[in-house]
Amino acid sequence: MQSTLRRTWAEIDLDALEYNYKKLRAHIGEGVKFLGVVKADAYGHGSVQVSRLLEELGADYLAVSSIDEAIELRENDIHMPILILGHTPKEQVANLIHYNITQAVTCEAKAIEYSEEASKLGETLKIHIKVDTGMSRLGYLCDGDYFETGVDGICHACGLPGLYAEGIFTHFAVADEFGDECDDYSKHQFKLFTDVIAQVEQKRGVKFELRHCANTGAVARFPETYLDMVRPGLLLYGYGEFAQMLGLKPVMALKTTVSTIKTYSPGTHISYGGIYVTDKKTRMGVLPYGYADGFFRCLSNKYSLMSSEGPVELRGKICMDMCMVDLTDKYGVDVGAEIEVFGPQNPIEHMAELAGTIPYELTCAVSKRVPRVYLRAGEIVEKELMLRA
Ligand SMILES: *Cc1c(COP(=O)(O)O)cnc(C)c1O
Repeated sequence: MQSTLRRTWAEIDLDALEYNYKKLRAHIGEGVKFLGVVKADAYGHGSVQVSRLLEELGADYLAVSSIDEAIELRENDIHMPILILGHTPKEQVANLIHYNITQAVTCEAKAIEYSEEASKLGETLKIHIKVDTGMSRLGYLCDGDYFETGVDGICHACGLPGLYAEGIFTHFAVADEFGDECDDYSKHQFKLFTDVIAQVEQKRGVKFELRHCANTGAVARFPETYLDMVRPGLLLYGYGEFAQMLGLKPVMALKTTVSTIKTYSPGTHISYGGIYVTDKKTRMGVLPYGYADGFFRCLSNKYSLMSSEGPVELRGKICMDMCMVDLTDKYGVDVGAEIEVFGPQNPIEHMAELAGTIPYELTCAVSKRVPRVYLRAGEIVEKELMLRA
């Protein structure tokens, strides 16, 4: 549905997304395919709109975390290849095939289930083998003593009827962290990955079409890991130190407005718990932005938002639907004025640091109540509110 309110909204700058995509393409160079990670509603930016643009720009692949996310894209006319990174129950194999979705295969038991289901249907399911090289989450365990059994398991999966192993991938655990220890860990992961591939390809006499592992940290720092395809998420959206290093632009700006202004005497307790007490005559603005919109309550009394006249301090506890800011010396900021929660004027990295988290969590946390407004050349091209999607 369309939102009628000018309350709190997320502006998604499609030009910035296009800019980031093109800049990343130039950065990775010729001959490397590009998979855009659009899981979790494209990190809160809207997976349909982001995928549509990536498809238009010629990206090669998309990745999501679940079959529901993948089907949502197919039902919105996204035709490019989609890989599901997470688990899909075997009952959904018919849907995977029907919607032409690629499934990650992470262990022997799943390979067998998927093979049986696809065979029953007389169809072929496209899969990418997931190798656990040190993330210790999903994937065939191949490190140390597990090398031979891992390789054998992968060979077995690739040869099963009803499965076509188009690709193989792994995921780095610390590619976005600095220091020799982290670099060594990533190098070890990469070497193990290429060793596994070499061994599997040699045993089977078949090469994988798509070998991929480079997430944001690796795309920024380890060109040697690009192989056939890179797999960034965060970089596309333009946040974090690597995006800054590469000169990428933040795609989302979260904005709100001043709904009410009141002036309090000194000694007035503000909001639940009264943790803030005015120390002077204070002109206080109420913003219709609270934790139900994705504002982290731990930022109560700590954060400053950006007005046209500079930073405005958050005062007192963040409520479900509202928060209060000090507008005492900001006389140009009146009822209806726009306030940037984070965005180009107020970097999300700063908010993440104060909240003790990472930008990923903040854009994912922007709740469904917040309409996404899509911009091209500064003009609104689409508004979407997903209260009941
Ligand atoms: C989320 C995810 C990515 C993207 O990670 P970024 O750090 O955003 O680049 C890549 N691969 C897998 C398996 C993921 O789960």
